[in-house]
Amino acid sequence: MDMALGHMANERLMTPGPTQLPEQSRLAMARQVRHHRTEGFRRLFGEVVEGLKYVFQTQNDVLILTSSGTGAMEAAVASVVPRGGKAIVLESGKFSERWRLICEAFGVCVVKHTVPWGEAFAPDDVARLLADHPDAQAVYTTLSESSTGVAHDIEGIARVVRQTPSLMICDAISGAGAIECRTDAWGIDVLVVGAQKALMGPPGLAFVAVSPKAWAKIESIDRRAFYFDLLAYRRAMAESEPPYTPAIPLVAALAESLRQIRAEGIERIWSRTGLLARATRAGVVALGMKLAAARPADSLTAAFFPEGIDGKEFLRRLEARFGVKLASGQGLWKGKILRIAHFGKIDELDILSTLAAMELTLAEMGQPVKLGAAVAAASQVLVSAASE
Ligand SMILES: *Cc1c(COP(=O)(O)O)cnc(C)c1O
Repeated sequence: MDMALGHMANERLMTPGPTQLPEQSRLAMARQVRHHRTEGFRRLFGEVVEGLKYVFQTQNDVLILTSSGTGAMEAAVASVVPRGGKAIVLESGKFSERWRLICEAFGVCVVKHTVPWGEAFAPDDVARLLADHPDAQAVYTTLSESSTGVAHDIEGIARVVRQTPSLMICDAISGAGAIECRTDAWGIDVLVVGAQKALMGPPGLAFVAVSPKAWAKIESIDRRAFYFDLLAYRRAMAESEPPYTPAIPLVAALAESLRQIRAEGIERIWSRTGLLARATRAGVVALGMKLAAARPADSLTAAFFPEGIDGKEFLRRLEARFGVKLASGQGLWKGKILRIAHFGKIDELDILSTLAAMELTLAEMGQPVKLGAAVAAASQVLVSAASE
């Protein structure tokens, strides 16, 4: 509660996960729990699987796990690369680092390739790595690196990986449902996504889309997981069921969110998210902040705090006074950057009001901002798009 104002501001979650849910999705969770080995649940589950296939643009099997996104990442290591097998990890941020840590935890021999935080991987470098390591069984990549705000060229990287026996594995947890992600057309063998980002689902569900090339590999290796053994999910999926008790209310909520996504259309969502991203970037730059990503993702904006501003205090004030919750930096960039999401339910007015709140807060902290400049810059982007 903000003491000066004596009231509790409405919470406005502008973080790159979790995100706020549509009303229908929230109401779905209030319904009585139904049993999962029933015709009704099978129908709902089947609908969710089809909705996910649409969002991921894939005909591959889509498996639903009861876990956060990291559980699906773990499944994409434990079920896919055997102990002692070699994998290339493209690491440049907190989440791609997680790929390496999971691989190491499962005894995978990691070839780590890095670029500085904020930069993007070049497909040519991946081609060279694969030529140097023809025995690499998988390449672990990230579509939208949520810790740096970078969008990696997954289409270009997949084009290279596709020509080798290696599997193309992509963490699209904050990307899928926000920015272009064409699993089949690009050739992503294992796509990993979580519910609580652009899919507008409650936290607690994760998804893995598996290509025939990846299944062949999965079938051939020693199993190193039980709960996260992807073969168990595929067997149950044949009956349109999960192998174990699913998070039934969360599945019901996600079904509602996916209906909304389908109604709008995934390509329209990609372009709307792109517009919000351009408006946000213009506003943030007008506030005197420097964008963190050389190749910014349209799913979230990461920017360095202005010189002389205590970032932690800035975020605290923003939340206390306006209820606006932004994400701070992680790892190397802890305390240095803020991160604003523009996916899911977030709309133009959310972006404009967030920028206005940021501007006011910076002014109150003594920063020489020109009031209205950030909103004007963002509005200009929106106006130009509307008149195109
Ligand atoms: C949020 C996120 C994760 C982690 O997901 P959890 O649901 O917190 O386990 C992994 N990768 C990326 C890119 C993310 O944005």
